[in-house]
Amino acid sequence: MKLLEFEGKDVFRRYGLPVPPTGGAIEKPAQLPAALKRAGKGPWVIKAQVLAGGRGKAGGVKIAKTPKEAALIVKNMLGMKLVTPQTGEKGVKVNKVLVDKASDIAREIYLGVVLDRKLGCPLIIASAEGGVEIEVLAHTKPEAILRMPVDATAGLRPYQARQLAFQLRIPADQLGAFVKLAMGMVKIFMDLDANLVEVNPLILTPKGELLALDAKVTTDDNALFRQKELAAKPDLEATPAEKEAKKTGITFIGLDGTIGCMVNGAGLAMATMDSVHLAGGSPANFLDVGGGANAEQVTKAFQIIMKDKKVQAVLINIFGGIMRCDTIAEGVLTALKKIKLTVPLVVRLEGTNVKEGKALLQKSGLKMIVADSLWDAAQKAVAAAGAN
Ligand code: GDP
Ligand code: MG
Repeated sequence: MKLLEFEGKDVFRRYGLPVPPTGGAIEKPAQLPAALKRAGKGPWVIKAQVLAGGRGKAGGVKIAKTPKEAALIVKNMLGMKLVTPQTGEKGVKVNKVLVDKASDIAREIYLGVVLDRKLGCPLIIASAEGGVEIEVLAHTKPEAILRMPVDATAGLRPYQARQLAFQLRIPADQLGAFVKLAMGMVKIFMDLDANLVEVNPLILTPKGELLALDAKVTTDDNALFRQKELAAKPDLEATPAEKEAKKTGITFIGLDGTIGCMVNGAGLAMATMDSVHLAGGSPANFLDVGGGANAEQVTKAFQIIMKDKKVQAVLINIFGGIMRCDTIAEGVLTALKKIKLTVPLVVRLEGTNVKEGKALLQKSGLKMIVADSLWDAAQKAVAAAGAN
């Protein structure tokens, strides 16, 4: 789960880390005057709150010197489609903007904590040359990037943070502030089950003050069960179909193709998508009904797949393990009685009670194409989608 910048900054504030004075995030122009007042004396910086970086270059970060300028910026920014290198061509709509007191920048630094899967621990990535995109810097000047693995149990030790400060040429009078910030960021990383806590840019003001101007926090969805506060937040990136699927316990991700896939198990779902590609088609979705799918979930899965107007054929690929094929077949038949399927249906069953399952499907008299193997199913689905 990704936090918006203002949510990330709220977390930083809670941990006592230095962020600019803020007027908070607003959704309507009418909320601006109060926000400006809360932020304090101008100039102010107005920032689009979307789950994508690269906002600065895309017009999502603007400085206002007067309340009048701020009003004009907010009016234009709210509701605009922001297209950054991270949003794709379609862009994302700006529903909220953050109003912060603007800061003067003397130096920009990059400081991030990521999960290093190879090392199996948090890793601090830092560079004295902040302000530029870290991915670009990694290509053009890899030696300018510092890496420091962190013991997940002990957290960042003060001497490590001081070492980083020296390498980043943090002025002596800000050493304590930097150590607190770096240690705090690692603590946030651990406490929130994050896989990214990033500040770009971390700035030094002309007065030598250290401030996190931006905050990017991404947490691990698999830890949401113990992150009650995060779990209660609405998922801003999910489509309506994805939200509906989640409620039913189905894992669903919408894609661009024409073949709706209903599969049990994430691995089999991936293999199914690959096979569809190999057969010359493209999947309309990733859908894993899970290990214990019942008739109700299969019905819901059909409904979700069929809402996508691009779908030209549906491919059911089930491996009966603990879940027996005849149970799945019954689920499919129950669902097909409720839903009028308007596109060809290809079914491939394998595993426990496959004979019974296939017999049930054949006996039902409902129109479907029965396939024998994954490859056979993929080819038949692609052919059916093409003919439809
Ligand atoms: P991003 O482009 O989405 O990463 O958004 P940032 O929050 O990093 O802002 C982009 C850029 O805008 C920063 O790198 C800064 O150069 C600039 N910026 C943001 N806030 C301020 C501010 O308070 N004062 C000044 N002078 N520049 C700012
Ligand atoms: Mg940034």
